[in-house]
Amino acid sequence: MSKLPHISTSMFTVMSKMAAEHNAINLSQGFPNFPVDERLINIVAKLAKENVHQYTPMSGYPPLLSKIVTLVKKSYGRTLQADTELLITAGATQAIFTTILALVKTNDEVLILDPSYDCYEAPVLLCNANPVRVALNDDYTPNWEIIEKACTPKTKMIIINNPHNPTGKILKQSDFESLEILLGKYPDILVLSDEVYEYITFEQKHISAHTRKKLLNRCVMISSFGKSFHVTGWKVGYLVAPEYLMKEIKKVHQFLVFSVNSICQVAISDYLNLVSVDEIGKFYQEKRDYFRRLLKDSRFKLMPCEGTYFQVASYAAISNENDVNFCKNLIVEHGVAAIPISTFYADGKDLKLIRFCFAKDNATLEEAAKRLCAI
Ligand code: PMP
Ligand code: GLN
Repeated sequence: MSKLPHISTSMFTVMSKMAAEHNAINLSQGFPNFPVDERLINIVAKLAKENVHQYTPMSGYPPLLSKIVTLVKKSYGRTLQADTELLITAGATQAIFTTILALVKTNDEVLILDPSYDCYEAPVLLCNANPVRVALNDDYTPNWEIIEKACTPKTKMIIINNPHNPTGKILKQSDFESLEILLGKYPDILVLSDEVYEYITFEQKHISAHTRKKLLNRCVMISSFGKSFHVTGWKVGYLVAPEYLMKEIKKVHQFLVFSVNSICQVAISDYLNLVSVDEIGKFYQEKRDYFRRLLKDSRFKLMPCEGTYFQVASYAAISNENDVNFCKNLIVEHGVAAIPISTFYADGKDLKLIRFCFAKDNATLEEAAKRLCAI
């Protein structure tokens, strides 16, 4: 008997596999294809010969913890206690899983705003708790009235993802105000704030949960160096939580991974001496603009993109097919892989929208756009 009867292989895995089989350009799963910063490569090469290969302390390599304290202070003005409020994780996925497993109990309800990234629901189900999927507005802003209506005495957690995968939306000041009013009415609800794309925003600046005083004592904030430093395969991220929650989170973390891969932690710690996160938004803004320009004369209609490295596009002018079949045909017939947006909805809502990842070198974007413009 399956513990997760309705969960199947993630669409990112399915599409990347199909892209490889058909030798298609893979704009589906979100990962960069350009070279990693040579300075980071050199750090790893040098570290490989050093004494960095054993377990780090359970909560993380201490110099990396203090670098993150500095980073969060500089980015958001928040002072973290490294020993009680910070935990290095094996990517954001483990941070999310660990947080939910540690804090959510049988029959609790967890609000997930659709379209939503795929890794929130399974850990909720494994806790014998209930995921409550609430739709965002058509323009992907949260509908706080509907969200409030979905809150019950059983609601344990609201998951927010900002900047948002797949839509590229970012939360506004007024969204945080509405969230805080809601939480004022429900003092037991916790917030899980998935901010893995925190440094990838464009015209408007990212508002982090770190900057919201009313949230700090009830929010777990999650980030990923995979996104910020273009090393998704390293699977190193971190989570920030108030001490009373962190105590519970660490109880799970120590038996799930104990400690995260040492050489990558040391490398990121050293790299943080050299690099500034301020450059990341500009870097991806250029990619976004370039990709959008390349697709300007195509029959795809491009949706707004305020952050992340994903561009959502409508193919309604091209085809009536459902989005999963459209993406499969796109691979087989046109040699470009994308992600169907319906997979981010509990009810598989199909709006004829697909997601392209533009974290690619210019030659890849150009060739993909050439193929997409010919459709
Ligand atoms: N949350 C979101 C919104 C994501 O897009 C991703 C994907 N990469 C993750 C979490 C997982 O991040 P990681 O690879 O660090 O586990
Ligand atoms: N976050 C990546 C995306 O949205 C996928 C990572 C994964 O495959 N788990 O494409």
